[in-house]
Amino acid sequence: MIKYDYLIVGAGLFGSVFAYRARQAGKRCLVIDKRPHKGGNLYCESIEGINVHKYGAHIFHTSNKEVWDFVNKIVEFNRYTNSPVANYRGTLYNLPFNMNTFNQMWGVTTPAEAQAKLEEQRAEVRRMLNEREPQNLEEQAQLLIGKDIYEVLIKGYTQKQWGRECKDLPAFIIKRLPVRMVFDNNYFNDKYQGIPIGGYNKLIEGLLEGVEVRLNTDYFADRAELESLAEKVVYTGPIDEYYDYRYGKLQYRTVSFETTIENTSNYQGNAVVNYTDVAIPYTRIIEHKHFEMFGAEVDACPRTVISKEYSAEWKPGMEPYYPVNDELNNALAAQYRALTRREQNVIFGGRLADYKYYDMAPVVERALAVEV
Ligand code: FAD
Ligand code: UDP
Repeated sequence: MIKYDYLIVGAGLFGSVFAYRARQAGKRCLVIDKRPHKGGNLYCESIEGINVHKYGAHIFHTSNKEVWDFVNKIVEFNRYTNSPVANYRGTLYNLPFNMNTFNQMWGVTTPAEAQAKLEEQRAEVRRMLNEREPQNLEEQAQLLIGKDIYEVLIKGYTQKQWGRECKDLPAFIIKRLPVRMVFDNNYFNDKYQGIPIGGYNKLIEGLLEGVEVRLNTDYFADRAELESLAEKVVYTGPIDEYYDYRYGKLQYRTVSFETTIENTSNYQGNAVVNYTDVAIPYTRIIEHKHFEMFGAEVDACPRTVISKEYSAEWKPGMEPYYPVNDELNNALAAQYRALTRREQNVIFGGRLADYKYYDMAPVVERALAVEV
């Protein structure tokens, strides 16, 4: 019997924003999720009074005022600014590549000196390329930032993160890293950024307030029965699974975390420290308290929680984290997308259904744009 207007598959960010809007519009919704909690990858677990980002560090950033105002209407955001530090064999460098990095790398103190040093290194790479375009990440990175920074801050980190040598990776991955001639360690160029005060669970709870949610409920375990309950379906799970993998399985890249409680109030003095030497097996260490505790609050909380992040090759059955947007997978995703256009009563959304590497803000933007 039809009891709901929408069956929403997935209590992640897309499903939750959609459910909020549908409820506001007077629609009846049932949200299901196969996980034992709401929030999808935004979910935080409280350990030692610290919100631990269970599925990896999440920093909200956007230049879209409508999106920023919308999330702040649900929960106020703090002033966290992402400024990761890189550790290479015990020496620290600021990121993204800016005047602080150039000073630490070359001892230069003015933009003119830094520019001259960069140009000297770029000229060497141009000579090597001999008028042809960079053909892989190694060449692109060296042209962007020179050999010194490539060797110390990019080569090892990228190899660990992608499980492949820079020579065998596409150039575009590195093009989005900012290069700045000012002393500015803010990793993002966006106008707004922060973390919800009280954590991401507050955002999700606010969005799903008054909405019926069933956890530990897999859509595919009871598809016909669940579909019979609602007029329409909003699907935010993997697109290939929706179509029973009829064209084959899409691939993902995954990460794993080793989380420990440390008996110190301040382990590394920053939320994110990247380890750029290939000899260190993890890519970065996240110290979760720094996302939400500032100044004296850090020491007032006597212990700390850290997560070492490892990159791994994804296999079916593992948590699908990042879509692999290479030619093969994009072509496969396009075939599935063509099928979705024929559906009358299903709305597809979110990073798994769209098979796109979305940050949170674009997911909110899309969920605000669909008709409820
Ligand atoms: P998800 O959060 O994946 O939600 C989908 C939900 O559907 C899940 O809860 C899943 O359990 C459920 N589901 C799937 N299949 C079924 C089924 N068959 N039955 C029932 N339920 C099902 N973005 C940023 O803006 N800043 C960051 O710093 C940032 N860092 C990130 C770090 C990592 C490691 C990762 C992986 C992502 C990061 N992101 C970041 C991206 C962010 O996580 C996503 O944009 C956002 O979570 C997408 O929300 P979603 O609802 O599309 O997907
Ligand atoms: N990168 C790097 N060294 C760093 C940080 C990033 O070489 O210390 C490279 C790496 O190849 C990575 C890319 O820059 O894949 C993009 O980095 P970003 O932090 O934006 O990636 P994310 O962790 O969000 O996937």
